[in-house]
Amino acid sequence: MIAAPRAVFEPARATEIHGEYDVVVLGGGPAGIAAAAAAGALGRKTLLLERYGFLGGMGTAAGVTNFCGLHANVYGDIRQVVHGCADDLLARIDRLGGLNEPHLIFGKIKAQAYDTAAYKIAADDLLLSRGVDILFHALAAGVVMDGKRIDALLLETKSGRRAVRGGIFIDCSGDGDLAAFAGAPFELGADDGSMLYPSMMFRLNGVDADVAGDAWKTIPELMEQAEKRGVRFPRRGAIIRPQKHETEWRVNVTQLKSANGRALDGTDANELSMGEIEGRRQALAFFEFLKAYAPGFADSYIVDIPPQLGIRETRRITGQYSLSREDVHSCASFDDTIGVNGWPIEAHVAGEVKWEWPDIPGSRGYNHLPYRMLLPQGVDNLLVAGRCASMTHEGQSAARVSGACFVMGEAAATAAHIALSAQLPPADISVDALQQRLATNGVFLGRGQ
Ligand SMILES: Cc1cc2nc3c(=O)[nH]c(=O)nc-3n(C[C@H](O)[C@H](O)[C@H](O)COP(=O)(O)OP(=O)(O)OC[C@H]3O[C@@H](n4cnc5c(N)ncnc54)[C@H](O)[C@@H]3O)c2cc1C
Repeated sequence: MIAAPRAVFEPARATEIHGEYDVVVLGGGPAGIAAAAAAGALGRKTLLLERYGFLGGMGTAAGVTNFCGLHANVYGDIRQVVHGCADDLLARIDRLGGLNEPHLIFGKIKAQAYDTAAYKIAADDLLLSRGVDILFHALAAGVVMDGKRIDALLLETKSGRRAVRGGIFIDCSGDGDLAAFAGAPFELGADDGSMLYPSMMFRLNGVDADVAGDAWKTIPELMEQAEKRGVRFPRRGAIIRPQKHETEWRVNVTQLKSANGRALDGTDANELSMGEIEGRRQALAFFEFLKAYAPGFADSYIVDIPPQLGIRETRRITGQYSLSREDVHSCASFDDTIGVNGWPIEAHVAGEVKWEWPDIPGSRGYNHLPYRMLLPQGVDNLLVAGRCASMTHEGQSAARVSGACFVMGEAAATAAHIALSAQLPPADISVDALQQRLATNGVFLGRGQ
């Protein structure tokens, strides 16, 4: 007997067109915010699509609450190296009282914490001030192709299925959903299939900051003592830090794996579902440990477990160039630089976090990000920016953080603008013109160090 196929066949249907745009940006994380803001400021009719009801990507949806990669350690001088749209966003968060002063990490680099509510409001304001249309609660579900061009992006919304037409599409979905729908080649994981492990972030309130002191330095020691008593933690390398209001702390310590022990796959619906539940279980277990053993945490409580599990890595498109570990280590230069990444390799491997730094303070501390990493193969009117851009597994372990994603998003939109003006595919535009425009708009291209 022939087994019935495990599928149903949907009838063909006509799908209402939601709108036609010059630039369509999928995803409202740091890459998508910068892309939409830049395209809007350049006068392009721009739409940003986002499956949730707010912007920020992993920064808000997964409770990251901290910008990495805005700074670099330039020959011992830690300075901000990501500017452009990011400056406008940071200023708006700051005006809402939601931005911490940058804090030191391992004495080598700085990061900057923020309040998620302020980030969401500031990002709304930024895009609206630049004339961008936003469609929230819109899940991209497929494409209609016209040869090697994307004709329309298909969305599922509460109003039903919709299509959006665009001149150029920018995939800032983090997972490379749009590139995958369009048939662009991508990789999922390293050569052995392993990806960076996800984490369920959570935040505590009610911490006695005076008693907690520099708890981020002492909690790892408390965890080691607990391990000697037989306690097992999902991972070492806990990151536990105060937010803007000193009673509120973020906790980055959980780690989610699939049944085979490898990192949970954020493109697998079943694994994602399991990971949300296990992530919350791990969050509760670690909270109970902190409450019992960490000075200053006795009266704390969980104020937030974010809307979704934090996914660090899924699809990485195979573009014209893949940023590599060696590029990060050697602070590589590229003729087609679009900005810089100053964050080191931060590899979330089984049970721990492994850091790999460029020579500090002997190097300029950042690598160029080449325009080619935004250019997928086989699709003419698509750019890809953010953590799903073209990088090796190790290169992505560094340039996946917010700073580099802002850079990539702004560059992708600026390239889209130039491509539309020149009526050329993004792969054929003048890189000189792109760099001049980025520099005019305040982007630091990393030359002259
Ligand atoms: C636990 C954790 C801790 C981290 N810590 C830090 C940190 O301290 N500092 C730092 O800078 N970075 C940190 N990172 C990394 C950083 O948050 C991400 O790499 C960064 O947000 C990636 O930006 P992005 O714009 O490429 O994608 P994302 O932030 O992933 O945004 C993608 C957006 O696209 C939307 N989307 C996806 N698919 C679809 C679809 N099909 N339809 C519609 N919308 C869709 C998503 O909802 C999301 O809003 C951390 C990441 C994790 C997971």
